[in-house]
Amino acid sequence: MKVQEFIKKVQDKDINIVEHIHKVLEECKKINKEYHYLNTISEELALKQAEQIKKNPKGKLAGLPISIKDSICVKDIESTAGSKILKGYKPYFHATAVEKAIKEGVIIIGKTAQDEFGFGGFSTNAGVDFEIPLNPFDKNRATGGSSGGAGGLTQKASFPNIGLGECTGGSIESPASFCGVFGLVPTYGRVSRYGLIDYGNSLDKLGPLGKNIYDCALMMEVISGYDEKDSTSLNKEVDSYTKYLKKDIKGLKIGVIKEAFSDGTDNSVKKNVWNGIKKLEKQGCTYKEISLPITMKYGISTYYTLATTEASTNLAKYCGMRYGASEEIKGNFDEYFTNVRSKNFGKEAKRRIMLGTFARMSGFRDAYYIKAAKVRSLIIEEYKKAFNNFDILITPTMPILPPTFKELEKLTPLQDYMMDIMTVSPNLAGLPHINIPVGFEKSLPIGMMIISDHLQEGKLIQVGKEFDN
Ligand code: GLN
Repeated sequence: MKVQEFIKKVQDKDINIVEHIHKVLEECKKINKEYHYLNTISEELALKQAEQIKKNPKGKLAGLPISIKDSICVKDIESTAGSKILKGYKPYFHATAVEKAIKEGVIIIGKTAQDEFGFGGFSTNAGVDFEIPLNPFDKNRATGGSSGGAGGLTQKASFPNIGLGECTGGSIESPASFCGVFGLVPTYGRVSRYGLIDYGNSLDKLGPLGKNIYDCALMMEVISGYDEKDSTSLNKEVDSYTKYLKKDIKGLKIGVIKEAFSDGTDNSVKKNVWNGIKKLEKQGCTYKEISLPITMKYGISTYYTLATTEASTNLAKYCGMRYGASEEIKGNFDEYFTNVRSKNFGKEAKRRIMLGTFARMSGFRDAYYIKAAKVRSLIIEEYKKAFNNFDILITPTMPILPPTFKELEKLTPLQDYMMDIMTVSPNLAGLPHINIPVGFEKSLPIGMMIISDHLQEGKLIQVGKEFDN
């Protein structure tokens, strides 16, 4: 059943929502044993919300189960961002996006697994003691990341549901691609970040993952908008995203980014994405191959310099004194601080702290952080020029098929970061983009990424519907 039919049934009282949610929770537990998509199943909250919906089946999302990435705060539900250092942390408030979704009647089923604080592209950098989510199509392969639990659960669950994810440099698109679902990353500032356990403040965005394009459009209508609690949220009217599901794509101009189809990209990925482009051409779009040399050459180094810099400052606040993991207070503050952080941060978080601290240190700042900030402006300019001539830009989402865990073990950190080659740049530019499932190879899903100009999320939905199931 599709999300829209399900919601209609709940509103019409054709579904016993309490019974349904009992079944949903059972299924979540079963899936979780095998696939590890949820760090927490919020059983009590879900059943309470179901009782309320039973009495009053109202709201645009009435009765719809949604999962929330573990880095997004849900009041009274453990929210760890996948890190041991936040173990036991139960926020006193909801993130604004969660609050908005609750107002429209959602039922929160749990907090989804991720790379610790979002540091990763495969969800294999889960924090100390966390389990790693497994790809829904092949348990020997990764889900993508960092919103891997969200991607996996959205695909695997038999019940209609939507995932709320977070993206800094690819964390919604990557798992959406590897798990074969839609994943929409809005313009930076379109959705409030209030209540997000931050990774990099100039990059973080919240967005939906769904089996169908409608799911993303609907969720975007609910969570978007200005929020006085987030000074970076945009004070611009929210578009009616579902309207774009009826809009013809005839005449849309597509720029296909050449560099994204170079030797580093798997042939099966190229083939399937080109099939997608040809399909759009048949529907009346025109396309041209274009080059974005600065963006494609410097995206990775720029992103990893800026993202780690911001991450290293954000992580400075975790010392286990106010919330989360605590250790016995022994020695002076530095000794305590070192002890708590050594024990409770995972390897990748530590690496990012070192990289980021180095890049912004006095003496090195001009050469790394400041330089990267300047290159970021050049990347934005390059995209903006392209949007003078094109409505949307297309690349594959990920350059490879979902990798096996064995393959991932062999990668150096730099090779691992390189897998984000397609996704980091639209994120640096704050541009909206979406993963669209376009095909399968060896029974594994392949995703195509569409990028549009700022606040043009509508175009992503308009094009995405051509690939809907
Ligand atoms: N893979 C990227 C990183 O590790 C993106 C992660 C994200 O968007 N949170 O930084």
